[in-house]
Amino acid sequence: MGGGSYHGAERFEVPDSGNPGPATVSSRAGGKIPMMTLRSFVLGSWVEGSHRATLFNPSTEEPLAEAGTGGIDFAAAADHARRVGGPALRSMTFAERGEMLRALSRMIYAHRDELLALGIANVGNTRSDSKFDLDGATGTLSSYAELGISLGNRKFLLDGEGISLGRGAKLWGQHILTPRTGVAVHINAFNFPAWGMMEKAAVALLAGVPILSKPATSTALVAHRIMELIVESGLVPPGAFSFLAGSVGPLLDHLGPQDSLAFTGSSTTAALLRSHPAFVERAARINMEADSLNCALLGHDVEPGSETWNLFIGDVAREMTQKAGQKCTAVRRIYVPAGKLAATREALAERLGDVRVGNPAENEVTMGPLTTRDQHRDVREGVEKLLKDSRVVWGDPKKVSPIGVPEGKGFFQSPLLLECENPTPADSIHNLEVFGPVATLMPYDGRVASVAPLVAAGTGSLVSSIYSDDLEFVGTSVAALAPYHGRLVLGSNKIAGQSIPPGAVLPQLVHGGPGRAGGGEELGGMRGLQFYFQRTALQGAKVVIEKVFGSETPGAPPLPADNEGPAR
Ligand code: NAP
Repeated sequence: MGGGSYHGAERFEVPDSGNPGPATVSSRAGGKIPMMTLRSFVLGSWVEGSHRATLFNPSTEEPLAEAGTGGIDFAAAADHARRVGGPALRSMTFAERGEMLRALSRMIYAHRDELLALGIANVGNTRSDSKFDLDGATGTLSSYAELGISLGNRKFLLDGEGISLGRGAKLWGQHILTPRTGVAVHINAFNFPAWGMMEKAAVALLAGVPILSKPATSTALVAHRIMELIVESGLVPPGAFSFLAGSVGPLLDHLGPQDSLAFTGSSTTAALLRSHPAFVERAARINMEADSLNCALLGHDVEPGSETWNLFIGDVAREMTQKAGQKCTAVRRIYVPAGKLAATREALAERLGDVRVGNPAENEVTMGPLTTRDQHRDVREGVEKLLKDSRVVWGDPKKVSPIGVPEGKGFFQSPLLLECENPTPADSIHNLEVFGPVATLMPYDGRVASVAPLVAAGTGSLVSSIYSDDLEFVGTSVAALAPYHGRLVLGSNKIAGQSIPPGAVLPQLVHGGPGRAGGGEELGGMRGLQFYFQRTALQGAKVVIEKVFGSETPGAPPLPADNEGPAR
């Protein structure tokens, strides 16, 4: 039996699970990773499932592991999370759950090197890409830890100030937020196995909702190892964090009205899941993070060589090639005033020329392969479609000579800059996400009114960036683009040198986007928690409501110090 502390004081016993323990851990730290079978953690135990798929190293095509969930009792797994994990989390205050997240962040960070190596081997990440994934995970945990600690010793939250409902001050209304009592299913995409899993986990656990997390099978090695570490640490109460290594099977058939699904992946899978009876008939909640045709828009005022120009070129080149362009936030469409088209092409070509494609286990490599054979095929097919409306101005769609790779092996793709001289909203460029190191450069006449319909033709994106030092252009373009975006990055000479790249998803800001991007919202500090809460309006005597629940109305009595929340 293992055990661990969750906020420095208590220890949860971890059930005897037969988990591999330190011997397996140390044998995998660095060096070659032995072929292994990934297990799921459900009902407080590690379980080896059948119907396994194989996970590969995308640089060498060597098999690394197998994972499958055949034979798992999904109904019992969900029920265990609801019955055991839910009450355990809800018995903790926000501050205690915040401390738990802080401890998780530190614990994962302490295993950084081992996890980075797994990301290089299984995801095809360079070390820098791998850090981006892992530090995103620990950073988000840490940010939500701070939020939880700042919320203090409460078990529910007030939603805004109370409202007087009558002529006198007696009759009162107050909205409160309480954690839903179901299980949160998290389904993640292949590209961010650490960040994707822990970003969703941070929000749900802080809200007080147990999770059943499922990474994409093809890159589950990193997430699986993190799960092993979480179980070994005992930092999370029993039943609060379960894990599926492999297909989600019939799990959604067992979701009910208090349950939820947070999904990240392709719009095709999103559309399929949306129509599931769990959501259509039983009103389980669903949040979707899907495809995105993010843009970089250069203002008419930005001259080559200026600080804002350099920021624009640096951001676009990075967003095209980081993680081989396999980021939901990567720049896919680049709009520049027609007079700057040649200069942009030249500057980007120079940056792309510095990219060294190959096996990221080699130090000199700056861009790894695509993550799976299917992904490689999809990118090549997608580029063919984009080329119906564009031409290649940098890179070779079919050829690349990767560094440090056996002849003919690996799922490599050269960075590709395409150009479309006369873009129209009907073009494939505005309708097809090619999930690789590919972006299309397009001219416009410098007026927001001309470019806005092209941006809007993407039907909704996660994040786009506007580069301009002309405040009027910034204002007009934000007004035109905001309805189609979850986040807009405003690049200007005022932040050059300290700007955060558009591709970095920040826990303090909303992540999600309308339309094609899925229509979901994750993160955004408190905003992220809303998905896991029930908002309830209380209507009654002011004195009763304020005495039992406290108040945030200026001048009213403070919140009870250790409020137990509404009776359950
Ligand atoms: P995907 O094929 O849709 O898979 C995503 C996840 O869904 C995986 O865990 C997959 O499991 C699971 N899945 C597939 N079919 C399912 C089904 N019928 N029922 C339940 N689960 C199912 O997407 P992907 O190829 O992993 O990811 C790439 C896409 O994700 C891109 O389009 C990208 O834009 C998008 N993405 C969006 C965001 C965002 O925040 N908006 C972030 C990252 C990626 P298996 O692996 O076991 O098949």
